[in-house]
Amino acid sequence: MAVNLPAYERITSELQAYGARLVAVSKIKPASDIMALYKAGQRIFGENYVQELLEKQGQLPADIQWHFIGHLQSNKVKYIAPFVSMIHGVDSTKLLQEISKQGIRAQRQIDCLLQLHIAEEETKFGLDETELNSLLADYTAAPGKFAGVRVCGFMGMATNTDDVAQVSKEFHQLKALFDKVKADYFPSEDAFRELSIGMSGDYKVALEAGGTLVRIGSMLFGARF
Ligand SMILES: *Cc1c(COP(=O)(O)O)cnc(C)c1O
Repeated sequence: MAVNLPAYERITSELQAYGARLVAVSKIKPASDIMALYKAGQRIFGENYVQELLEKQGQLPADIQWHFIGHLQSNKVKYIAPFVSMIHGVDSTKLLQEISKQGIRAQRQIDCLLQLHIAEEETKFGLDETELNSLLADYTAAPGKFAGVRVCGFMGMATNTDDVAQVSKEFHQLKALFDKVKADYFPSEDAFRELSIGMSGDYKVALEAGGTLVRIGSMLFGARF
C-alpha cells in the first residue's frame, strides 16, 4: 500500500497549530515508504526493532532523525548509540545507565524519554511513580553516571480503548506529572520539554493534553500485517 500523503499533509498542519512534532512510525514498512515521506519533507522516523533500524539507517539519507520507540534491551543499546536521535522507551535505571555508558563511548549525549505506565492494561511497559522517583533520585545523586544521556521528558501509551474520556484522563495525568517533575528536577533545563503521547487513534486527544511528539504509523503507512 502506498504512503498516504494527504494524511501526512493534514496531520502536519494539525501539529503545527500545537507546535508539536511528528514521529512517523515506519516499523515493518519498507525503506521505499520512508523515502516517499522523506521526499514530502518528513525527517523524524520511529522504529521499534534494533536490527530493522540498523538496516534502514544504513540505506537511507543521513539527515533522518531516528527515534527508537520500542522496548530496548540493554545488550542492544550499543548498536544504535552512535546515531540514534532519541530513545523513547526508557523504563529502568539500569537501561538509562547503559545508554549513558554507550553514549559516552560514542562521544555524545543521547536524548532519552522516560516511559511511564499510564494505561489500565498490565501488559504495557513503563515506570510507575515509585520507580520514577527512585530513578530520578539516582539521576540527581550521581549525575556522573548519566553523563552520556540527556533526559528530555516522558513517553506514555494510553489504554487501548474507544473511551476518549479515559484516554484523555490518562494523558492529562501524565502531563501533570511531567509538569511536577519539570519543576522539581529540571527547572532550568530547556531540554526537558518533550511529552511523547498519541498514536494514530488518539493523537488529537494527546495534542489537547499537551503532547509535543506524536508517534503515528498506520495512518501514514497503512495497516501493519
Ligand atoms: C507502533 C507504535 C506506534 C504507532 O502506532 P499506530 O497506531 O500505527 O499509529 C506508536 N508508538 C509505539 C510505541 C508503537 O509501538
